[in-house]
Parts: sequence; C-alpha cells; structure tokens
Amino acid sequence: MDELTIFGLTSTSCAFMENFIVSARKYRPDTFNTVVAQDTITSTLKNAIRSKQLAHSYLFCGPRGVGKTTCARIFAKTINCSNLTHDTEACNQCESCLAFNNNRSYNIHELDAASNNSVDDIRNLIDQVRIPPQIGSYSVYIIDEVHMLSSQAFNAFLKTLEEPPRHALFILATTEKHKIIPTILSRCQIFDFNRIKVGDIVQYLDHVAREEKISIEQSALNVIANKADGAMRDALSIFDQIVSFSGREITYQDVITNLNVLDYEYYFRLTDHFLRNEVADTLLIFNEVLDSGFEGQHFIGGLAGHFRDLLVSRDPATIQLLEVGGDIRDRYKAQAANCPPDFLLEALRISNECDFQYKISQNKRLSVELALVRIAQLTLKKK
Ligand SMILES: [Zn+2]
Repeated sequence: MDELTIFGLTSTSCAFMENFIVSARKYRPDTFNTVVAQDTITSTLKNAIRSKQLAHSYLFCGPRGVGKTTCARIFAKTINCSNLTHDTEACNQCESCLAFNNNRSYNIHELDAASNNSVDDIRNLIDQVRIPPQIGSYSVYIIDEVHMLSSQAFNAFLKTLEEPPRHALFILATTEKHKIIPTILSRCQIFDFNRIKVGDIVQYLDHVAREEKISIEQSALNVIANKADGAMRDALSIFDQIVSFSGREITYQDVITNLNVLDYEYYFRLTDHFLRNEVADTLLIFNEVLDSGFEGQHFIGGLAGHFRDLLVSRDPATIQLLEVGGDIRDRYKAQAANCPPDFLLEALRISNECDFQYKISQNKRLSVELALVRIAQLTLKKK
C-alpha cells in the first residue's frame, strides 16, 4: 500500500517536472536591471557604457553564485548591442543581442580557468584575441576562476593584458581575489560583488514562485534562502529540488524534511525549557536531534545562533540584523522578551564555548549535554 502511494507520487512529480524548466536557467537575469542586489555594480557599468569610458580589463570578485558571470555576460551583450535603450540596457532584439541570447554570438569567449589553466590554454586564447569581431564592436573574453591559472599562464597572459587590441575586453572573475598577483590587479578595474542578503533572495524566490504559479510558505522561502548562504544560484537550484519533490504546494515542513535542516522549532522549544529550568526535557530534545541524524556540533552551533538571534531581537536598533522575516520575526521578538538579558549573554557564552571545544572533546555528546544542563540552570541560581 505504502509502496503504491510512493509510486503514484513519484510519477506525478515526474510528469510535472517535464513542464518545469529549471529556474536557475530560466530566471537568470538578462539585463542589468534584473540582476538582484548588485545595484552599485550594475549602475557603474551602465554609466561606463553610457559615457563610453570602457576599460580593457575588469576583475569581478566575490563569493560563488552572486552574479559575477551573469553580469559579465550582460555587460558583453550590452556593449555590442546596436540599439541600446534609453536606460542603457541591451535591446534584446538586434542581431547581436539575438545571437547572445541564443548562445551563438562570436563576440563572447568564456574560459574556465579551473579546468583550462595551462600555458597552452592561454596561448590559444591569446591567438583568438587578435581576430577582430565580425559584428558588434567588442570581443569579450571572460576568464572564470582566474586565480586557478598557473603562474606560467599568468605571465603569458600579462603581455596581452598590457597591450590588448582595441576590440578586446577582458573580464576576469574570481572567488579568491587575494590569489591574484598584483601585476594583474593593477591592470584591472576591480568590482567587489556582495553576498546576497537573505531578504533579497526570499523576495526573488517569491517572484519566481508567483511566475510559476507555485504556492510556497514564506517561512519555507526563508529556510531555502538561509541554506543558500548568499548565493542566488544555489537558492534557485534548491528551489527546483523542492518543487520536483513536493509539487506546486510547498509547506515549511516539506522544505525542512527535504533539506534536512535543523528546524528552529527545536530551538524555540529548547529555550522555553531552559527558562523553566527543565533539564530533562532539553536532554531529550538533543537526543531527538541526534536520532534525526544531525551532528552534535551542527546542533550546538545552531543553538548559539539562536541565542544570538534572540539577543538582536531585543533591541529595535539591532533587530534588522535578524535575517528572517514575517511571522518568525515576531516569534523571535516574543521569545526574546521573555529572556532576561544576562541569561541570553551567559547562554550564548556557554554554547559558543561548547561549539569551540567540540572538536577536541573526548566525549562529544557529554560536552553538549553538559552545556545544556548549565544553560538550563542559569535562571535557577537567580531564583
Ligand atoms: Zn541589441
């Protein structure tokens, strides 16, 4: 019976998936205005295009999945567009734009330095650089993960970077700026991309969900955004994963189960028990968490994070540091109001210390339990 149900579910979601284009691809921004949360960068690039003050080489730095390659592609398309909009965006209609949108433009060359990092790879690229573009004005060379180039390759590249042909424009992208040699850095205009805030990711996923006619709880979006850790690309692919698993009606519980996230529900419950000095209950909850397959350190780190969130929720000035929205924000505020400030500080200190000592501890389970016992007795001493 169970098997049959599972079978039924799987086949429904398969049929559904056929019509569902992976949103990471479908919702990739194709104009500067649709890039999420990198406004300073996109407006600087647009200004440069408008005033025709383009550099020959750019370095895009920042964490993975925040839009570096996407911005590089949009930039390449825009500077080759023959019919720019008033707002300095690509028209998406001219021959060059259409070629870009269909991935058949000869004006853009991408090299992934993570897998092509030899001198020969760079020499091939340098040979291509000399050839002027057929349509459009610029040939754009995007070198992804440029810090992975071998030092010989770097040196071979330096000369081209110093004296590039008029039509060539380089966009180097890296997640590790500190690994780029100073001679390269000094020749590039540098842009630092931000990690994308949870709130911005939630807002964008909400937009995608509405477009796709998928109903999803706000708290579920929050979990996905947190899990993505600042990377929009990850957020979209997690979103896809959840949709293929749960269909068009997605609850908070679906997401928690699917991502195996340590639910903040545990921490709200724990804190209530701490305040009532119910030691046994806290130990049982910890046991429940371990039984669900979570690591002790993951648990204690999450607990420290919960106390931190409660702490910032106490003060209207710091509540903006709480990266959750909606109903959950109110729950944090309510629980924070019940916690004496010195309890929060001390609980944060104990859990943080336990997290710190966890790796070297001989009896890891015991050290977490000890921390729970100590926290559960904090308000007892006062009474
Ligand atoms: Zn165009």
